[in-house]
Amino acid sequence: MDVLYDLGRAGYEAYLVGGGVRDLLAGIQPKDFDVATDAKPEEVRDVFRRARLIGRRFRLAHVRAGGEIIEVATFRAQPRSPEEGEEQAEEALDDHDHMLDEGGRILRDNVYGSLEDDAFRRDFTVNALYYRVTDFSVVDYVGGMDDMVARQIRLIGDPETRYREDPVRMLRAVRIANKLGFDIEVATAAPIRELADLLTDVPGARLFDEVLKLFLSAQAEKNFDDLIELGLFQVLFPQTAACLHQDGVETLIRGALQGTAARVREDKPVTPAFLFAALLWPALRDAMASAIENGQNLAQTIPEHSGDVAAEQVETVALPRRFSTPMREIWALQPRFHRRNGRRPERLAAHPRFRAAYDFLILRAAAGEETDELVQWWTEYQQGNAPVPPAGGPNPKRRRRRRRRTGETPTSD
Ligand code: ATP
Ligand code: MG
Repeated sequence: MDVLYDLGRAGYEAYLVGGGVRDLLAGIQPKDFDVATDAKPEEVRDVFRRARLIGRRFRLAHVRAGGEIIEVATFRAQPRSPEEGEEQAEEALDDHDHMLDEGGRILRDNVYGSLEDDAFRRDFTVNALYYRVTDFSVVDYVGGMDDMVARQIRLIGDPETRYREDPVRMLRAVRIANKLGFDIEVATAAPIRELADLLTDVPGARLFDEVLKLFLSAQAEKNFDDLIELGLFQVLFPQTAACLHQDGVETLIRGALQGTAARVREDKPVTPAFLFAALLWPALRDAMASAIENGQNLAQTIPEHSGDVAAEQVETVALPRRFSTPMREIWALQPRFHRRNGRRPERLAAHPRFRAAYDFLILRAAAGEETDELVQWWTEYQQGNAPVPPAGGPNPKRRRRRRRRTGETPTSD
């Protein structure tokens, strides 16, 4: 509100737009707020002392207000089609504005426009509603209010064209529909299966961001279902998709997604490393299948193959190294849960990734890969009950020493 008022006092038009308006209308607490204005980025910076200009694909101002960062963007226009010719493309380059590639994909869009232009270049009708604080009205050029009432996500304009401009809109349709509990309108859903492959042209880093929004979410499992149904999951995670029919694979992934969703709802931290560990574990198991059959040591096989699985995944969704490294550690620790004698449990428990690896063990047990007894043992171990390992247990001398130290009384074997 402060940002809207300040821009208004400086003589500019300013509206709240996008997810903020949409979520408020749907009765959901918005995650963040976006403002659209006729002020140019430099002019926005002049109004707010603490504004920062950011962005390469399009320039925006970040304004700090009330402990939050408000994104303030200048009205922009819909990119022109590539058929409009060389001349315009060159002109566009000169102006640092938008361009389409031959497939109709937007490469850049920094052409300023009117409020109406700005509405039509947005993705979904419910994302193109503008709240004006001067008269408390909502400006709607695209029928977004009707779609709010009908509870549906509808692309503005011709769906196929809009997906070709930016294939990520297919993922956004799924995510936003499930966030609001809306349906994807029929004509908006119709071309998705056929166009799903376009996602392979999207930079992997952008897909990674979008995948996190889809899966580190309270609606993670519903998003998973819809992505599969629309043929999008198969493009994002081809290695995983190839294993989905195998025993226990869906159970493992759904377990991870349900756990994540529960944590999100409780405002607990969630990590991409754990999510990707679950999503890609079936592919790793597959890659190791022949090694396991040949009786190779799992502890050696996992690190060897986990690099290959991660490398193949980053061809589509680019998992940054700061997440793939802990993911591979979670994997590498799995065989070590079987070694329960001597000081090995202690050493394993001291590993910085132990807790995540233990949570992952629970998922694997629920999917039938490990016994409940093993999970139970490690659960009790952490509670300090130092359970006695089954046959082939620890070195008895060490056990005695430990009992003396902790004052524990021996339990019957
Ligand atoms: P949320 O913030 O809940 O993830 P959002 O709709 O606000 O959802 P943002 O990524 O914050 O998503 O985008 C803000 C607004 O910018 C959108 O509501 C939409 O109007 C516009 N927008 C975002 N991405 C696109 C896109 N790929 N194509 C067209 N318009 C987009
Ligand atoms: Mg937003």
